[in-house]
Amino acid sequence: MAAQKDRVMALSEWEDRWQEGRIGFHQLHVHRMLKTNIDKVLCGRKDVRFFFPLCGKAIDMKWLADMGHSVVGVELSQKAIKQFFEENNLSYSEESVPAIPGGKMFKSSDGKISLYQCSFYDFSSSIAGQFGGIWDRGALVAINPCDRQRYAALIVTLMDKDCRYLLDTLLYNPELYGGPPFFVSDEDVRNLFGSACDIELLQTEDSFEERHKSWGLDSLTEKVHLLTLKGN
Ligand code: SAH
Repeated sequence: MAAQKDRVMALSEWEDRWQEGRIGFHQLHVHRMLKTNIDKVLCGRKDVRFFFPLCGKAIDMKWLADMGHSVVGVELSQKAIKQFFEENNLSYSEESVPAIPGGKMFKSSDGKISLYQCSFYDFSSSIAGQFGGIWDRGALVAINPCDRQRYAALIVTLMDKDCRYLLDTLLYNPELYGGPPFFVSDEDVRNLFGSACDIELLQTEDSFEERHKSWGLDSLTEKVHLLTLKGN
């Protein structure tokens, strides 16, 4: 972690990535670890309100909406949001969000998916309430390491009392690659969320792919954790 502690990526760099199509993080299929663990997130619940921090154009959002759940996402890049709706053949409307300076909300015509275009740090429960489920993939690992406390504190305020928060983390040698995605250890997860949440490690997988060789890596482990508010 020390190797990446001071690494800072400006928000404009994310927008540049979207403009230039450098979005190797985007997956064409529903994330396999979400599929594997969805029953543990739902626990038999229907019509769950899901939150996707730093959502990009993850098709996992459509997958959950098609199952009858509703989805709220937050994403900086308007290009990402428009591509999400267009690539999934979803018609949508656009409105301003007075509570967020410069913020906009894009909503599917059936009302199931609402994506806020703003910085995550400008979002709060006063804008869209609290959530029964969170899928955090490419989000905690994407924010700058120095912002993690702030990120975790905000996520906790978005959790409804019965919220089940599925968190995906990546482990690799941070001396070899500077991120993002950043390395997040189990200890980091405990330090960030342990006072508010019970944390259960659900799955550990070798997720090394050919593209990770260009990062200078020869191994990469992916983990998913299930977080629930203490006392629930
Ligand atoms: N979760 C998505 C995207 C991961 S990449 C997926 O799994 O495919 C991280 C995304 O977060 C990028 O699309 C980037 O534009 C966005 N992003 C980065 N910092 C942000 C911030 N502070 N607020 C909102 N979005 C942010």
